[in-house]
Amino acid sequence: MLDSINEPVTSLKGIGKETAEQLATLGIHTIEDLVWTFPYRHEDFRLKDLVETPHNERVTIEARVESMPAAVFLGKNKQRLTVNVLAGRHLVKVVFFNQNYLRQKLVPGTIITVTGKWDRGRQVIVGSSVSFGPKHERVDFEPVYSLRGNIGQKRFRKYMRQALDEVSTIISETLPPQLRDSYKLVSIVEALEGVHFPKDANHAKQARRRFVYEELLSFQLRIQALRKARKDNEQGVSIHYDLSKLRQFIASLPYELTGAQKRVVNEICKDLKEPHRMNRLLQGDVGSGKTVVAAIGLYAAVTAGYQGALMAPTEILAEQHAQSLRAWFAPIGIRVELLSGSTKTKVRRELLDGLATGDINILIGTHALIQPDVSFNKLGFVITDEQHRFGVEQRRVLRDKGENPDVLFMTATPIPRTLAITAFGEMDVSIIDELPAGRKKIETHWLKHEQLGSVLTKMETELRSGRQAYVICPLIEESDKLDVQNVVEVYEGLVTYFNGRYQVGLMHGRLHPDEKDSVMRAFSEGEIHVLVSTTVVEVGVNVPNATFMAIYDAERFGLAQLHQLRGRVGRGEHQSYCVLIADPKTDEGKERMVSMTETNDGFRLAEKDLELRGPGDFFGKKQSGLPEFKMADLVHDYRALDVARQDAVKLINDNHFWELEEYEPLRVMLEKSGALQGERID
Ligand code: ADP
Ligand code: MG
Repeated sequence: MLDSINEPVTSLKGIGKETAEQLATLGIHTIEDLVWTFPYRHEDFRLKDLVETPHNERVTIEARVESMPAAVFLGKNKQRLTVNVLAGRHLVKVVFFNQNYLRQKLVPGTIITVTGKWDRGRQVIVGSSVSFGPKHERVDFEPVYSLRGNIGQKRFRKYMRQALDEVSTIISETLPPQLRDSYKLVSIVEALEGVHFPKDANHAKQARRRFVYEELLSFQLRIQALRKARKDNEQGVSIHYDLSKLRQFIASLPYELTGAQKRVVNEICKDLKEPHRMNRLLQGDVGSGKTVVAAIGLYAAVTAGYQGALMAPTEILAEQHAQSLRAWFAPIGIRVELLSGSTKTKVRRELLDGLATGDINILIGTHALIQPDVSFNKLGFVITDEQHRFGVEQRRVLRDKGENPDVLFMTATPIPRTLAITAFGEMDVSIIDELPAGRKKIETHWLKHEQLGSVLTKMETELRSGRQAYVICPLIEESDKLDVQNVVEVYEGLVTYFNGRYQVGLMHGRLHPDEKDSVMRAFSEGEIHVLVSTTVVEVGVNVPNATFMAIYDAERFGLAQLHQLRGRVGRGEHQSYCVLIADPKTDEGKERMVSMTETNDGFRLAEKDLELRGPGDFFGKKQSGLPEFKMADLVHDYRALDVARQDAVKLINDNHFWELEEYEPLRVMLEKSGALQGERID
């Protein structure tokens, strides 16, 4: 009898030093480690009807042997046994490889239970295991663990069985009864049993349900505790903006704000006014009108006597923002300046003076904003555009330039809700999920490489009516591994094709920043008609006259990225087109192409991408910001995630949670995570 689940595995019968060492290589040291090592699947021994079993699927049948086994010798110690069996109404063959000892046992008339792979075409089961007698003498599910070394499944199962028997009497429940009751979750003992040795499919399902919820709840508790710790400890500024000036400004805009814009403006203004520091993510699809929302927020700060800053990832974007904001603010006497890497020394010095005295109300710029000698008079509100382009550290430096200014992060990458509340869980999230009225849908077509001719014809039609075009290629250089279109090659091909009729420009990541800028400028001023580029044009670039985009090897991109790229066109009054040139090999690739032609809705595409390709695509590989879950799956368990999140918010703000005995295990978990001290939890 064990005293604690923390005892070493050697306290189980049959586990000596040697086995313990082998288990240690799997990260299993204690009984607790062992029982939390979940199987990655179960062998399903439930009986199935062969008619309903797809080709190549594993299946278990109960059958009567109908013939003497026929043996074929295939080499040294290699034989194949074939036997006819009757399974229900189906007369099929079962073959066994290298199990010659079965020869004597497979006597006609014997009832056997066979598991194996079903070859539908040949009506053969390739048997991997067989037992004699009818099925009910066997379990339905057997766990299969991810093991290494000398420990086989059978032995590991034996240890697990023993451990679970011991543990069931000493393990304590981690979920409080009221939560278990309201979601009808099984106890921890039953759940552990069901994860390893389920009685039936429902038992396995209920076990999984419990652990998914528990895992997501723990995660959300950590996030919510972190948020609360930050809100309590980080005194921000209360920005008491002038509401009537704000209303006047909004009324003076050439258009009415969309419902979604109004909603997020309210959310932002509410944060500005409150004493805690704003830490908000603003998501809005390309063209949804984030710039004007940012401007309204910055203006609010200015009306309260604060300065504002807007940081963009590239010079071009910073310039575009400066242009828009100056057009709005110059008439009402608000000074907007631009600071970038290419700002001349003398101008820069003047800017820094203006910032220090407070003469400059709003500063827009690239990462030049975060250099040490840039200091503000009274910085109250900081916005970073395309936040994923900036590292955490850069964002922190900018924030530290004020006395805990409010911070808003903007992104045009629609992130599926589950991922947003997971990866950015400690932030508040605002979403602009509505485009300004009257936008034309970008007509999207999917063509094969062999149809390139018609792509060029269509492109030329647009160019002839005075429009411009993008041609996007995946990589800069030809690589041996990836047979991708070389951007330079495509560029040269188009130069030859247009033969001076239209100007073709080239843009890729290897160009010097100055070159990039001058190419972009020439395109935006209409001197270049066709811009051949890698994905560097992805973010924020605004050339409303560009109405045509062709994307080579489109199957190499995820939906989120294709959508971002496509967002470069359709920004003006003219109908725009996007052509995906792709020969996808996989069904998944084909589905992506079809999705693109079907919808322009970035959030729907993002959800689809998540479903097709998993969460990895949405964030950089290194800093995914996503936790690793044992059981929960962000694609399928989104409802549980939502529920867990709401519960976590309630619990964290409920005194009972901090006092009652039944919450003790969850509190201990929080304590260990560092979230209560406001530490990051990744
Ligand atoms: P993004 O969210 O991609 O940054 P922008 O802020 O650049 O989008 O806005 C895209 C275009 O939509 C701009 O030309 C802007 O003037 C226009 N716009 C923004 N809000 C509205 C609105 N409520 N009604 C009409 N046009 C709008
Ligand atoms: Mg923008």
